[in-house]
Amino acid sequence: MSNNIAKKEYDVIIVGGGITGVGTARDCAMRGLKTLLLERSDFATGATGRNHGLLHSGARYAVNDSASAAECIRENMILRRIASHCVEEHDGLFISLPEDDLGYQTQLYEACHRAGIPADIIDPEEAKRIEPAVNPALTGAVRVPDGSVDPFRLVRANELDARLHGADILTYHEVTDIVRRGSRVEGVKVRNTQSGEEFAVRGSIVVNAAGIWGMLLAQMAGVEVKMFPSKGALLIFANRVNKMVINRCHKASNGDILVPDGNVTILGSTSDRVSIGECDDMHVTPKEIETLMREGTKLVPLLASTRMLRAYAGVRPLVAADDDASGRGISRGIVCIDHEERDGLQGFITITGGKLMTYRLMAEMATDLVCAKLHVARKCETAMIILPDIDSKADDAPAPLRRGSRTVALRDEKMYVCECHKVTLGEIRDTIASGQAETLTQLRRRTRMGMGKCAGRFCALRSARLMCSVGKKDAAQSGRDLADFIGERWKGIYPVGWGTTLADGQYMTSVYQGLCGLDQFSGDA
Ligand SMILES: Cc1cc2nc3c(=O)[nH]c(=O)nc-3n(C[C@H](O)[C@H](O)[C@H](O)COP(=O)(O)OP(=O)(O)OC[C@H]3O[C@@H](n4cnc5c(N)ncnc54)[C@H](O)[C@@H]3O)c2cc1C
Repeated sequence: MSNNIAKKEYDVIIVGGGITGVGTARDCAMRGLKTLLLERSDFATGATGRNHGLLHSGARYAVNDSASAAECIRENMILRRIASHCVEEHDGLFISLPEDDLGYQTQLYEACHRAGIPADIIDPEEAKRIEPAVNPALTGAVRVPDGSVDPFRLVRANELDARLHGADILTYHEVTDIVRRGSRVEGVKVRNTQSGEEFAVRGSIVVNAAGIWGMLLAQMAGVEVKMFPSKGALLIFANRVNKMVINRCHKASNGDILVPDGNVTILGSTSDRVSIGECDDMHVTPKEIETLMREGTKLVPLLASTRMLRAYAGVRPLVAADDDASGRGISRGIVCIDHEERDGLQGFITITGGKLMTYRLMAEMATDLVCAKLHVARKCETAMIILPDIDSKADDAPAPLRRGSRTVALRDEKMYVCECHKVTLGEIRDTIASGQAETLTQLRRRTRMGMGKCAGRFCALRSARLMCSVGKKDAAQSGRDLADFIGERWKGIYPVGWGTTLADGQYMTSVYQGLCGLDQFSGDA
């Protein structure tokens, strides 16, 4: 594969396999551009796989950042249409508690309307009726069209569609340098992070979609993009405690968003500046857990007695504002930099800032710029064309769904391997057989197997067996892979390892270590 890639000449090379990169690859490929995407690790290993998955209505930004709020509500409506299989439409509440200023509720309500966000002030009794989990002491509530979005399925749908439109996509390929001739970028140098192989690829335009690491990529190109790495810690609870998103109706702060996602609940987040060096190795600290629990139980008191499943943290790719210590005040707006115009460097574009749920618009902006430079007239169609649904079983699915889905292959294999996320035997088998997942961790990111309330306790074992029979791994290879998978899951369980979470962890240990003898494969498990 690498040999073929090195011989080709691309219109556009996109760096980064988060949602911005895969979305841009899809848009570029749909407009007929010869497209290559390079990701140094696996898909969604940056901020894209480490957020709340909140499909913002925009209300959170309405008071301070009206432009971002308006972007959010427009994209919210588009994603409900083009990615309905990745979205849960349950609405959200902004609640005021006795210590909150009710004047902020009025500000929020008016700002929502200015930004085009449908918002209604509702009576606290009505709020308790539609969302029984909410703190009964609330003094006010605003209902908005928040939802949740599955980042992993969204990435996969974009990636699959980009490939269907002819894009080449390589994971585990890191861009190590930008090839320049004078003031023009002509391609990139690449290293296969698994084999160590190095080669160069030629392309007319390089799009920097490397999230927070985009500042390093810009340095390689000899230009500067000032970023503000803003760490956010999150907690996952082992039940779905709320039906709707619950936000606190005050200026954005710690632990004030609670997002229901399938059969779990995600509480976030914190916001602290970290150094770029720390971004590759995120840990959640006891202080962060304490902060999240203190604030989260104000939204929903029931959280205090709900089992925590895991903790994780990500880094927001914010564009720096010098006077903001926590990053809360920095705009979540999209930043698209034409380095030819700004720095006199031709063939280099940075697309960053924004949010998971504004990725499509970010991709459109970057692709419009690429097309303008290459004199390609084709317009963006991503707001209209439905994304493929990987495991759609419907025989009568509309054409765009059928095109991308593996309907025929999966139809007869509806038995669940992962009950939490309803991942079928067909989907697991197909993902392994088509070479899209060579490890259980990759399988998890492609299908969400192991990401529900059982934390992979049952489905990981079943999937490991399928790795042997379908993926042709021998028992020892599969055992090592399973040990790596469980070790990876432990990293998230460890920071919250007390009470019922600890008991559950011990149960998992007795299954995998005691029954399966997994400790013979790795010291991590
Ligand atoms: C705590 C937290 C909560 C959030 N909550 C929400 C939310 O609820 N809703 C929402 O819409 N947004 C949310 N966000 C924001 C959202 O997650 C990000 O804006 C979005 O995921 C950024 O995607 P990206 O593709 O630009 O960056 P990333 O996902 O970080 O992807 C960048 C990719 O580039 C790759 N890369 C880096 N360097 C190289 C290289 N040299 N060669 C090849 N590849 C490279 C990395 O490995 C990475 O995969 C949240 C973010 C955080 C941190």
